[in-house]
Amino acid sequence: MGKRQFLIAGNWKMNGGPYQAAELLDGLKEKKKNISEDVDVVVCPPFVSLGMAVQHLHNSDIQVGAQDLYFENNGAYTGEISAAMLVESGCNYVIIGHSERRRYFAETDDLVNKKAKKAITEKIIPIVCVGESLDERKNNTHFNIVSDQVKKALKDISDTEILDVVIAYEPIWAIGTGETATPAQAQQMHVHIRSRLAELYDDETASAIGIIYGGSMKPANAEELLTQPDVDGGLIGGASLEAESFAELITIAENIS
Ligand code: PEP
Repeated sequence: MGKRQFLIAGNWKMNGGPYQAAELLDGLKEKKKNISEDVDVVVCPPFVSLGMAVQHLHNSDIQVGAQDLYFENNGAYTGEISAAMLVESGCNYVIIGHSERRRYFAETDDLVNKKAKKAITEKIIPIVCVGESLDERKNNTHFNIVSDQVKKALKDISDTEILDVVIAYEPIWAIGTGETATPAQAQQMHVHIRSRLAELYDDETASAIGIIYGGSMKPANAEELLTQPDVDGGLIGGASLEAESFAELITIAENIS
């Protein structure tokens, strides 16, 4: 079994126009001049800041990702951005199916699947988000909900293609709330997801797929989460908006890996 690579990904959400992006990234580069090759680092600014981010991160160890894409190649889809456009802009990653997109923009599992497949076709790594609501956890349906999301998101993705997919487990109740899953809760769900992946593919494939955790991860709680054996990194919202805390998270991952 190959060693899984840590991934620290910053989801800026609807924060940071081009000038703010430049400032934040200059601060980050200043704080993290070199990044261990054992940790992949990506920032996902809003679409309009991707160009600025790619420019500012040229010759750095930090990669650029987008927060969404549309699965069609081009055409009459006002407001949408294609995977090929992201490639042309210098993106290597894209977040797919974030719970905020599912909730506010009615993204279905089917749409998430189409977007993930398109990212793979265009050789961008999709970070496919899954996670349960607070009610679903209270009702004890969280494992089934997440199983279903994983299965539907990965429909028709082959056993070689899946190796270039990252899964992000993001319990909705922990996103932007300051509430974090306990390390045990995160590990338990990551193991659950990995066993679903083993059913969909096989054990060896499942053990090679990165599963990262998202939900109020910050320097104060990152170490206990990232030291869980099945937690392969973090998708970070709030704490990615400050150079200091994002740099600290990268350093914590470097020290563990
Ligand atoms: C996210 O948006 O993916 C996220 C995890 O946000 P936060 O870290 O702010 O909870």
